Amino acid sequence: MVNIKINGVDYSVADGSTILEAARAAGIKIPTLCYLKDINAIGACRICVVEVKGARTPVAACVYPVNEGMEIFTNTPKIIESRKTTLELILSNHKKECLSCVRSGSCELQELCYEYGVDETNFVGENPAVEMDESAAHMVRDNSKCILCRRCVAACAVTQGIGVIGANERGFATQIASPFDMDLADTACVSCGQCITACPTGALREKDDTDKVRDAIADPDKIVVVQAAPAVRASLGEAFGMPIGTNVEGKMIAAMRRLGFDKVFDTNFSADLTIMEEATEFLNRVQNGGKLPLITSCSPGWIRYCENYFPEFLDNLSTCKSPQQMFGAVVKTYYAEKLGKDPKDIISVSVMPCTAKKYEIRRDDQSAAGVPDVDITITTRELSRMIKQAGIMFEDLPDEKCDSPLGSGTGAAVIFGATGGVMEAALRTAVWKLTGENSDSPVEFKDVRGVEGIKEAEYDVAGKKVRVAVASGLANAKALLRKVQSGEASYDFIEIMGCPGGCVNGGGQIIQPASVRNFVDIRAERAKVLYGIDEKNPLRRSHENPDVQALYKEYFGEPNSHKAHEVLHTSYQAKKLYK
Ligand code: SF4
Ligand code: SF4
Ligand code: SF4
Repeated sequence: MVNIKINGVDYSVADGSTILEAARAAGIKIPTLCYLKDINAIGACRICVVEVKGARTPVAACVYPVNEGMEIFTNTPKIIESRKTTLELILSNHKKECLSCVRSGSCELQELCYEYGVDETNFVGENPAVEMDESAAHMVRDNSKCILCRRCVAACAVTQGIGVIGANERGFATQIASPFDMDLADTACVSCGQCITACPTGALREKDDTDKVRDAIADPDKIVVVQAAPAVRASLGEAFGMPIGTNVEGKMIAAMRRLGFDKVFDTNFSADLTIMEEATEFLNRVQNGGKLPLITSCSPGWIRYCENYFPEFLDNLSTCKSPQQMFGAVVKTYYAEKLGKDPKDIISVSVMPCTAKKYEIRRDDQSAAGVPDVDITITTRELSRMIKQAGIMFEDLPDEKCDSPLGSGTGAAVIFGATGGVMEAALRTAVWKLTGENSDSPVEFKDVRGVEGIKEAEYDVAGKKVRVAVASGLANAKALLRKVQSGEASYDFIEIMGCPGGCVNGGGQIIQPASVRNFVDIRAERAKVLYGIDEKNPLRRSHENPDVQALYKEYFGEPNSHKAHEVLHTSYQAKKLYK
């Protein structure tokens, strides 16, 4: 510990902390813009400047370490004026569209300008020419709202280990873009959206597909069914001012019903179905000398990453479609037959915590009935906007249940939304099968829980050792796969999720500002929601889902049957890194 003074008050803080961390520990907020904990401490934006006794100029609190006896001043007139001028300079180069900007109300720049009473016309002059990049399936880049904080660059390069965006040109002409100003769609971008959730402004946003959903609902000739992924219920409430970690499952269902969807279903159903298929695939590979380790295939960002960067692992990927796509495939086949409808007359909509799902629905081999399995996918953020625009008082909604038969899910299904959840769900069913379908087989595999980037565990199952690993975030996936490639580690089963912490922290979730993200682990708080739902569910293993059992009885026969393969499985191909 070291002894310091902040604004004249004595504090004892951890040695090695930055001024920003020390101030926060002391309950003092220093504003930031470019700083994002663990990935972007570059002291570039100068919003976090503070005065330090003896220093000639203000210093950037996000990178300046504390030392014994230091005296810090965080809100002197000089500091307030400095921050205000910095904000006015940023605004001189900014397309000010706050009235309609998608981030209005959650924009960190807007909030700071308001707090500091900034005059937005103090500096006017020439602006650099900027272009919109709308090429990718999942997102839009509008550099006229970019403040060059580089948080997106760090998210892509550090969190995801990809690095398809960076600063092009220098000085006045600097812009964040892809190498050689290529379209993002032509790069090895995996559509994860981690850059969007890192961005403090409206420069990056998901492609908005809400009009398509509204048009579908308004079409009297179509039946519109919606599924919502497990992680959506752990974040949606944040858009309505609820604390991080609020379970809004019942209100989410009620809101979707009031938006006019004909049937409100749950991706939990197809998460259970995924486990039926994937656990069977795993056991078949183990028993028949198939390719191991088996690697999960639920996360389209991860799938694209594997196709781009690790094509040698394509045969290790489970052939199971993701739960989103399995759901859509079941809707357009089994459910269409049940309703006696042409699959063309059913519009299948999904609500996902993920921007890569917008890319996934367009992939080849994702149309079991000859039409797309899923027609439209929107993110948690888009759903929240639809609810607000429809005038639905979300907070006052009652808790409702999904429609039948595709609306049920076990506890194993809902934990898919957290890193380690798919592995735990698969183990619940695989171990049950390996131990002679014994109802006393374990349901909790806590070694694979938690937000660590890479987790490993070994289980003794019916006399056989099963080695498993779980990675979330693609930089962690890369590190894990390199260990497997080099022979340093060997596993039977690997779960990989594209986003750090899994889908709860997906690129389509409600965006929390850096002032929250830097100090609260939103991944852990949202994951607690899902484990809480799991614990309360009397059915905790996927094979116990009665509607999934009925689906096999009436339609697929058994897991991994020929028909199941036709409808529920897919294929992969190596991709060129750049077109
Ligand atoms: S990015 Fe922020 S400051 Fe800029 S227009 Fe949007 S809300 Fe306003
Ligand atoms: S979506 Fe993901 S891969 Fe693409 S630029 Fe953003 S962070 Fe990088
Ligand atoms: S796009 Fe957003 S995150 Fe990236 S540099 Fe610009 S403002 Fe920062």
